Amino acid sequence: MNIQAIEVRRDQAARPITGCRLCGTDLRYTFVDLGMSPPCEAFLQADQVDQMEPYFPLHTQVCDRCFLVQLKEYVSPDEIFTEYAYFSSYSTSWVAHAKRYCEAITRRLSLNDKSLVVELASNDGYLLQHFGPLGVPVLGVEPAANVAAVATGKGIPTIVDFFGVRLAKKMVADGKRADLIAGNNVLAQVPDLNDFVAGMKILLKPEGVITLEFPHIERLIEENQFDTIYHEHFSYFSLLTIDMVAQRHGLKVIDVEELPTHGGSLRVYLAHQESTRAVAPRVADVIDREKRHGLTDIGTYSSFGFKAQRAKRDLLSFLIAAKNEGKTICGYGAPGKGNTLLNYCAIGTDFLDFTVDRNPYKHGRFTPGMHIPIRPVDAIDQAKPHYILILPWNLKDEIIQQMRHVAAWGAKFIVPIPFVSVIDPAEL
Ligand SMILES: [Zn+2]
Repeated sequence: MNIQAIEVRRDQAARPITGCRLCGTDLRYTFVDLGMSPPCEAFLQADQVDQMEPYFPLHTQVCDRCFLVQLKEYVSPDEIFTEYAYFSSYSTSWVAHAKRYCEAITRRLSLNDKSLVVELASNDGYLLQHFGPLGVPVLGVEPAANVAAVATGKGIPTIVDFFGVRLAKKMVADGKRADLIAGNNVLAQVPDLNDFVAGMKILLKPEGVITLEFPHIERLIEENQFDTIYHEHFSYFSLLTIDMVAQRHGLKVIDVEELPTHGGSLRVYLAHQESTRAVAPRVADVIDREKRHGLTDIGTYSSFGFKAQRAKRDLLSFLIAAKNEGKTICGYGAPGKGNTLLNYCAIGTDFLDFTVDRNPYKHGRFTPGMHIPIRPVDAIDQAKPHYILILPWNLKDEIIQQMRHVAAWGAKFIVPIPFVSVIDPAEL
């Protein structure tokens, strides 16, 4: 099926019209509707499996003025972030990525012992910890108290609060202004986008720099990463849209890098509009490419749902055939994105006997909605399944390396995205 040929579909009038999170325009187009799903980080304890579980819509829309792909605030950040299960330090490659960033940005901005680096959504200090050996003072802002406590325990000063204009003004009043504000995978998670960006503008010194990393909507569309949509992610950005965000708040995009993290991310560099920092030519290069790839055409967005539907049919066809042949299947990982995929495709313990995760917080718990038990990684060695479905497919190379010994009993890996594929570790 040629999805380009399908005409742009406007939403049925039955959908209540709401305004764009960025520019306020009425939202009339669906990006993809993944049905009803529980919050993807709401891992259940054994005694909760028998209880009622809240489900919320996963209906993403797109604004035809600023092209911000967005999800309504179905679940409030207070519910999501006060006890957060995601400890960044459990991903080896993510911590290494953070260390490289800290070293490079310290050189680039000539940061020193007089500077201040503020990270928004600083998690367990996985990033800020690398500035210590470089002699650069840091301050974290993290709303999840349990995660922030881990950072504080490592000696990283952390404010437990939500960031926005209110907190930025308080920090400035306390004499804190930032030479560097880092926000990795946080911009997507703020329901009040304009308040958050306005806060960064207030907190930033006149020649300071903001770096933001977020999954790139261009990659999401081209590689069919529909499972990266979940209730905690309210917004999905192109550089085109980020440029509009910046302009709206007296900021400018001065540089951009394309990163492999989370299936393909952008790291954008912002400065005050009146700053002397020059704009790198690659900013215009990426924006031009986005335009060539249809990111200013509403049809590119409104036809995306068909790709998600095909991926679901392909994956289910494979799993059904495997089960009919008597094969055993388990999962690897229990990431948020896995829960979007499992719930959208309705893959429960009828397909996966269990999944495993490196994060001990999740051991003995169950995935939201589908109730798949989560065990330590060595459960795979005991069960010796025929297939291992890799849920954090963005880390598939790292996982297959760590788990290549499963070739000893002939196990193969299933990668569900962009469309189902099988990797035999014996052939590597
Ligand atoms: Zn808009």
